[in-house]
Amino acid sequence: MHHDVIIVGAGPAGSAAAITLAREGVDVLLIDRERFPRDKVCGDGLLPGSIKLLNQLGLADHFQSAGFNQINRALVISPEDKALAIAMNPREADTAFYIAPRYEFDAIIQQQAVMAGARFLRANVHYPLIESGRVKGVEVIQSGIKKSYRSRCLIGADGSSSTMAKILAPKTHNRRRRILWRRGYITGLEFDHRQVEFYFLKEIAPCGAWIFPVSETSANIGLGQYLVDYDPRKQSLNDLLAMFLKHPRIRPRLHNDYAITNRRSWYYHLAGWRMPAVAFDGAVLAGDAASFLDPFSGEGIHNALHSGIIAGEIISRALETGDCSRQRLMKYQARCQREIYRIIRRSLLIRKSYELFPGQVEKWFERINMPTSLAHKFFNRISTNFEFTGA
Ligand SMILES: Cc1cc2nc3c(=O)[nH]c(=O)nc-3n(C[C@H](O)[C@H](O)[C@H](O)COP(=O)(O)OP(=O)(O)OC[C@H]3O[C@@H](n4cnc5c(N)ncnc54)[C@H](O)[C@@H]3O)c2cc1C
Repeated sequence: MHHDVIIVGAGPAGSAAAITLAREGVDVLLIDRERFPRDKVCGDGLLPGSIKLLNQLGLADHFQSAGFNQINRALVISPEDKALAIAMNPREADTAFYIAPRYEFDAIIQQQAVMAGARFLRANVHYPLIESGRVKGVEVIQSGIKKSYRSRCLIGADGSSSTMAKILAPKTHNRRRRILWRRGYITGLEFDHRQVEFYFLKEIAPCGAWIFPVSETSANIGLGQYLVDYDPRKQSLNDLLAMFLKHPRIRPRLHNDYAITNRRSWYYHLAGWRMPAVAFDGAVLAGDAASFLDPFSGEGIHNALHSGIIAGEIISRALETGDCSRQRLMKYQARCQREIYRIIRRSLLIRKSYELFPGQVEKWFERINMPTSLAHKFFNRISTNFEFTGA
């Protein structure tokens, strides 16, 4: 079984790559171990940058008809309980921020990849087939049987636990940069369903906790902690979630019969200062497999879609020339460096300053809250999608 391109993982990165390639007439095999729709541990926040990419992929109508909850403001709370109010920037015409449960959202893109012509295969990929240093396809377990699928080029888009990255770029997924998360859906909590809430908490610093409404009655709730700081014998992620619910801004809004359903844990790796290798002989890595998550906000869907689209564009041209060597695919590495990693490094700088000087965060909150302060003016100038309005 031979294909032009095999894509491992049908999340946002893999499906965006599959749509881009299949529309160019490329023969694509899209493999995922899950049957879609499937859940994915996430905050479900789709920020304006992602919406722009979905429009670029021609998915605006499918997305709009899903009726996801639209957000127009955010409340950010500091460890000392200072509040920062943020509104969607009224100067930007097409700003939209949705909470889109991944169970539904990922199924929309995966289905569009199939509609565009990609063949979907449900199978667990064990490892890439490597011959003379070149990736030639994958070995999978399908219904308990081992099978090989060969390709001219491979995209590893298999998320933060990526088998492809472990083999092709073993240093990318560093345990010291691993963050564990617990996510659930809460009912029986009063909230403004047009507003997301984000909390910096001392107990889990520099990680945070959130409440992201998916409807008028249910919200995605969660928090995380660095693996190196996590000791489940002292405090499990469930204990931390229970502590979060006792926060003075949350407890009074909690009904006696509140419930958190669909609790699940997952992890991801923060990017380092240097961009990891993402281009190899006959293969590239995209999305979380390449650690392309924003290290400050934790937003990863945008970079997953973006890197998937770039991979699709570069590989489609590479196939035309018959050259999928690492040298040729370095064009992908270069575009990711320019279009994705520059912003990742900026966010990493913000994260590191918070990690090194956690007390400073209170001063940032004060300064940004003063409309006359330079920090307030500066942030509102650089941010195209949001505007600090003062709490
Ligand atoms: C707790 C948490 C909250 C988050 N909140 C947000 C948020 O609000 N907004 C945001 O933008 N981002 C958020 N993110 C990040 C976001 O979830 C990821 O960046 C995004 O899902 C990356 O997409 P992807 O396509 O690279 O990988 P994934 O979405 O993880 O998709 C990978 C796919 O690969 C498949 N796969 C894995 N291994 C194999 C294998 N061996 N064989 C076959 N298939 C395989 C999986 O089944 C999966 O379908 C959050 C992440 C976490 C953990």
